[in-house]
Amino acid sequence: SKLSPFLHAGPVATDNNLSIIHLKRDLQTPTILRSYDKDDEGYSEGKVVNTRFGSFPHKTLIGLPWGSQVRASRVDTGSRGRRQEKKKKRKSDEAGLDASKEEVGDTPKEEKETVTASSGFIHLLPPTPENWTSSLPHRTQVVYTPDYSYILHRIRARPGTNIIEAGAGSGSFTHASARAVYSGLPSTEGGELSVSTSKRRRLGKVWSFEFHEQRHEKLVKEIQDHGLEGVVQITHRDVCEDGFLVNEESPKADAIFLDLPAPWLALPHLTRSGPPAKEEKEDAGSNGMDSSKGKPFVSPLNPTVPVHLCTFSPCIEQVQRTVSVMRHLGWTDISMVEVAQKRIEVRRERVGIDNGQQRGIQATPANVDEALARLKEVEGNFQTFHGQEPTGETTKPKKVKREQNPNNRETIMESLVERKVYKEGRLVHKTEPDVKTHTSYLVFAILPVEWTAEDEEKARAKWAIKV
Ligand code: SAM
Repeated sequence: SKLSPFLHAGPVATDNNLSIIHLKRDLQTPTILRSYDKDDEGYSEGKVVNTRFGSFPHKTLIGLPWGSQVRASRVDTGSRGRRQEKKKKRKSDEAGLDASKEEVGDTPKEEKETVTASSGFIHLLPPTPENWTSSLPHRTQVVYTPDYSYILHRIRARPGTNIIEAGAGSGSFTHASARAVYSGLPSTEGGELSVSTSKRRRLGKVWSFEFHEQRHEKLVKEIQDHGLEGVVQITHRDVCEDGFLVNEESPKADAIFLDLPAPWLALPHLTRSGPPAKEEKEDAGSNGMDSSKGKPFVSPLNPTVPVHLCTFSPCIEQVQRTVSVMRHLGWTDISMVEVAQKRIEVRRERVGIDNGQQRGIQATPANVDEALARLKEVEGNFQTFHGQEPTGETTKPKKVKREQNPNNRETIMESLVERKVYKEGRLVHKTEPDVKTHTSYLVFAILPVEWTAEDEEKARAKWAIKV
């Protein structure tokens, strides 16, 4: 089967595969590269990424090594209008819809912008969960990289792990967890090793649940486009109502991540042998159990290992309810963490003229105007220095060595040309205000393996323990 570019990106960008067009910091556009554009019949340029930095025909990107810096081409962007017209018409013919209404969410923001320049460049990046998270079409709030990397570590996601994820939303966590649990191997022929060849490996899987119909549909399509359907199984389901079995089968989950508004309503489905009768009434309410539907309870959990769980909730009241239900249901090691990630901007501070004089260093001017203004100022200083002091007393011109006087013309010109003194600027850093960094509270817990009196007897017999 096809190798997912998220799992095996290879050395170069390939046709019909996802790539991430990096425009600038915090601005990336995911694009499936296509050498053939079905909307472009009759025209020669093929599919084109149009950005504010210029136009980039897909044909010029396919085959380039990941990380390449690519200059914009001078393509006839007028044909883009023709292509869009054709596309709209075809869509409306197909769906019998009003062609003027574009579907929101599908087209990356950048692609909708008018092309104003063609002189810029982009970087061509491979699809990774991190790049996908910062460029994906948002359908919901998403879990960001600092949170999901910590979560995946704490719930012990690793190759071979079965993870339950609900709700899937925009699929940010889905992609990160797919990479974490994936345990396949590429074969030398370029495909996946078959299960029989690698039968000693346990195949990890993400069991993903989403109850919003359109979000579910979009995610199914995305997972197919990204070649991840062997690793991610998406089910359209209200998990609080109907639990986590898929086609009556247990995912045998080792780890669980709940990004739901009311995770405490899903917890009663995540037990080993059904919840105590009390929880069914008080906490789970009518949302409760398979047993209440007259079916024997089948646990969605792996019976042989302690199960690690994380819930993701923005409010402390949600945390309190979740923790309370966790305690009732026998979860242990309950703890809460907030990942307060801060972006620290580190840069060299440009040093002002006065500071520069005191410390013998001079800042690099920001632009030509500033450079000219500084030269004028220096000319003035030069005259004062060699002529009359403001007091009116005549002073002898002092002999100052060139390198000691930061304000002589040569030194300044040297600094402008070599940008030497920039490197000597004072190192400063700035952090974002705290309030911007709150995402959610992460509640972690572990459900131990069930241990009966019989199990204890067996263990004692096995290890010859005398009590
Ligand atoms: N973790 C996702 C990501 O990283 O992109 C974002 C999840 S979003 C905040 C929460 C999602 O949970 C929504 O898409 C919502 O439709 C879904 N949801 C809410 N209640 C649900 C339920 N009872 N069963 C299944 N999905 C549910």
